[in-house]
Formats: sequence, C-alpha cells, structure tokens
Amino acid sequence: MSSLKILVFGAHPDDAELNVGGCAAMWAAQGHKVRFVSTTNGDVGHARKCGKELADIRKKEVEAAAKVLGIETAVMDVHDGELMPTLENRLIFLRYIREWEADIVVGHRPYDYHPDHRYTGVLMQDAAFMVTVKFVLPDVPALTHNPVFLFSYDHFQTPIPFNPSIAVPIDSAMDQKMDALWRLESQIESYWYKQNFVDVCPVPDEPEARARRKQEFFDQCLWKPVWRKQADQYRELIHNTYGAEIATQTRYAEAFEVCEYGRQPTQEELKDLFPDIAIQ
Ligand SMILES: [Zn+2]
Repeated sequence: MSSLKILVFGAHPDDAELNVGGCAAMWAAQGHKVRFVSTTNGDVGHARKCGKELADIRKKEVEAAAKVLGIETAVMDVHDGELMPTLENRLIFLRYIREWEADIVVGHRPYDYHPDHRYTGVLMQDAAFMVTVKFVLPDVPALTHNPVFLFSYDHFQTPIPFNPSIAVPIDSAMDQKMDALWRLESQIESYWYKQNFVDVCPVPDEPEARARRKQEFFDQCLWKPVWRKQADQYRELIHNTYGAEIATQTRYAEAFEVCEYGRQPTQEELKDLFPDIAIQ
C-alpha cells in the first residue's frame, strides 16, 4: 500500500498520545506519516504550575513523545479550557488538514465531559466537508479527495454512545506507547497521579528511583484498563476484522468510529487504512 498521511487532533498535550499512540507507532514503523496536533496548549492542567511555564513544558514533552513514536507534532496557541468552535479555528483546522494532505483525520467525538474535547470534535466535523471546497481558504490548495474522518474512543453514553467501526490491536506497540507517555512527566506527576489538581508526586531525578517510578508507571498506568476495555468490549469486531488468532491474543486495543461526514470506506478499505497487525 502506498504511504498514508494521518492527522490526529487531541484537545490537550496528552489526548492524541493516549487515544492513538499505539496505532501511530505502528503506522510510523510501517512507513506512513503521522502528525499529532494538540488544539490547546495545556497551560492550566497541573496542580502547581500554569501559564507559559507549563505550556512550554508540555510542548517539549509532546515533542519528546513524538520522537519516541516516530511522528511529527504541533501545539495550537490556545489556552487550555478556552477552545471555541469559531470560524477562525475552523480555518486553522482546514489549514492543518490540507497542508498535511491527510488521508485520515482523527479527533474526539463532540460528546464528552470536557469542552475542549467537544469543540475539537465539532471543529473536525466542521472542516470535514470544507477541506474539498477550493474557494474556502483559497491560499492552501483544497484536497481533491475527502479524507476518512474518525472519532477516537470515549465511554460517554449521552446522547449516543461510541459505536466503533474498527478496533485495532496495539499489543506489539505497547512498550513504545508507554515509553512515549513516560515523556509526559508533567501529567504523570500531577493529574495522572490521583486524577485531581491537588496531589503532586514529582518523578525523581535520582537514576535508581527514577527507574523504579518508570517501571511502576509501565506496570500500573491508570490508562491501561481503558485500552484493555476496548480489547475486551470489541473483541468480536477484532475477530471479524483480523481473525480468531489475533482476536484471542489481543490484550490492548484502540477503537475508532467513522464520522459520517467524510469519505465512507468499506470495512475492507478501513482495515487497509490501519497498520498491518502481525500475530505475536
Ligand atoms: Zn484532554
């Protein structure tokens, strides 16, 4: 298959890594080009740091994570918690999608607890048709083909639950995904520690203590159950797409739902847009 270009919008400088990190690592390893875009700069999501200091830290962290995954990354100049579905932001999304000549665009569903997640989903949907309309944003050539737009997984039920079109086994990329997430130290020490903005547990500098903390993070990361749930909940879908042997072996998965507004691939085409999955 020829090389694909994938663009992933995540609302904060950890969402794309968490939702698509496994597939991104595999896409990149198989010669495809992936770019993550954080649609806000993450400058309030910490118990003790904020503002430019935190935004700078988070940008460096996602750049380090991108290096581990073998992909490119960008961060929009929008304050955390302040993303709005404006015309200005719609044109920024259009520009990202067109300049990357994306075959696949991924983002949040517009049903989610966090307004930045919701509006990222809205902006992606608003761009979904416009990317092909040449007199909108005429300084960047319009795409001649409409990309496939995908929603990443979430557990919200109202007004309509996530309805996966494909669930991709990520077991072979788990070490790489965890290693990428390990670079997001300002998340690990703050929100990911107790899922609040009160408790902080800094990652130690001393090499042995640091190695212990890393092992602990790899073993007990709070997000692992989310990827396990996607494997368990969608095992039948994995079976139908990848066969019995792979479905039985899969422990972790990343699931995606095709958005109705872009290109509508067949199930076979959809599988071909994702990395080849080898039996472990
Ligand atoms: Zn987020």
